[in-house]
This record gives sequence, C-alpha cells and structure tokens, in this order.
Amino acid sequence: MSQLLYEGKAKKMFTTDDPNVLRVEYKNDATAFNGQKKASFEGKGRLNNAICTKIFKMLQQKNVPTHYIETISETEQLVKAVSIVPIEVVVRNVVAGSLSKRLGVDEGVTLGRTIVEFYYKSDELGDPMINSDHALAMELATKEELGEIRKLALTVNDALQAFFSEAGILLVDFKLEFGKLKATDEIVLADEISPDSCRLWDKETHEKLDKDVFRRNIADLPETYEKLLKRLEDVK
Ligand code: UDP
Repeated sequence: MSQLLYEGKAKKMFTTDDPNVLRVEYKNDATAFNGQKKASFEGKGRLNNAICTKIFKMLQQKNVPTHYIETISETEQLVKAVSIVPIEVVVRNVVAGSLSKRLGVDEGVTLGRTIVEFYYKSDELGDPMINSDHALAMELATKEELGEIRKLALTVNDALQAFFSEAGILLVDFKLEFGKLKATDEIVLADEISPDSCRLWDKETHEKLDKDVFRRNIADLPETYEKLLKRLEDVK
C-alpha cells in the first residue's frame, strides 16, 4: 500500500511497505517567487530526477550521508524517511539573486569566502533569513546539529564545485535541506539537488543552466535542463 504523504511544489512523497523508506515522485511543475509564478513543463520531472540521481550518487561515493537509496523509474526515487530540519541552508560562492539585492553587489562577483546562510522553512512567512542564534532559540536544531549541518553543507559545496567544474560549469549558489533519520537521529542530506535549487552558469559565457531561465523568462526550461544533463553525462 502506498499513500500520498505530502505534496510539495515540485515533488510528491509516498509511503512504501517499509516505514523507513519513502518514494519520491518528481513533478513537471515549476514555481518561483514563493509560488506566485507557476507553470508545468513536459519532461521536467524526468530531467530533475536524472540530474538529482547523478548528484546524489556522486555525493555517496564521497561518503556524504544522504537520504538517497535508489532511482526506480524515470521520475521516481526511493529515499530514507527523515524528519526534515526546518532550515533551508543556502551556500554561495558567487553573488546572485537575493544576496545581490540585499547587499547591493553586482551579480557575478566572486565572493572572497564561501557564505552559508540559514532560512526558516515557513511558506506563510516566506522563508525569512535567520542566524544560528535564531535557530537555537526557536529550537529548530541543536548546537551540535547546526555544526554538523554547516560542516556537511561546506563538504557538499566542495564536492559539487569539483563535479560541475568538470562539465565547465560554475556553481554560483544552491539550497540544501537536511533531515534526521527516524531510527538514529543521524543528520543526512535530504530533499533534492537540481537546477531548481542551484544556480549554475557556463564558466566561459555565464549562460544560465538553472531555474533562473524560468524565473526571469530567459529560455525554455526543459531545453535548458536537457542541455545541463547532457553536459553532466560526460562527468564521471
Ligand atoms: N533557493 C531554493 N529555494 C528557495 C530559495 C532559494 O532552491 O526557496 C535556491 C536558489 O535556486 C538559489 C539559491 O537558493 O540557487 C539562493 O537563492 P536566493 O536567496 O538568491 O533567492 P532567489 O533570488 O532565488 O529568490
């Protein structure tokens, strides 16, 4: 028996016969600006599933703990059941998006050091930015968990930068979510890593290969994601 547990903007989560395992289905829907802009694109679910699968497998090879188990169809994965830590973790190597607006620095400026930001995961509040004091005071995570999350986020950044670099792609910024395994409380990388949640630019031309093409009406989303997947296919 499989029941719909949760439906998000881009994915559905279903139960499986094993209480420790969930099935994720990648949808064709795309949203931007906290759900204000919406569209559906034939092929998006398949493309994000394929891209995310490649990334989770690469991270597993580098011993990063993730919720990923296996990919079971063009649009579905099995993942470990976790309780999601209600913090969105954004890692930035190059200025773009909300950081550019907030600090008045041009998009494309390389940061002198990597920035890790925390946002409180709340659709009603529009995911406000918080610091670790807020996270601790709100009991969103313990001090040890926050330390682990920060360390894992930076490890993921190193691994992703090297991976995308081999495909001639600059990793500008990305968003991660972490979960606690039901059985052990171990912190693992959860959710997805895809062009929906990363900014990826061609190293030479700065052509955008991510959801900004939809947010900013720059190019066709499935064509862009297909182009990205093709480039990643050559990376080991
Ligand atoms: N991001 C995301 N989900 C969110 C907010 C941000 O996946 O709810 C990703 C976004 O794709 C980008 C990075 O996090 O790669 C930083 O986003 P930013 O804060 O610049 O916000 P935006 O300009 O996308 O509103």
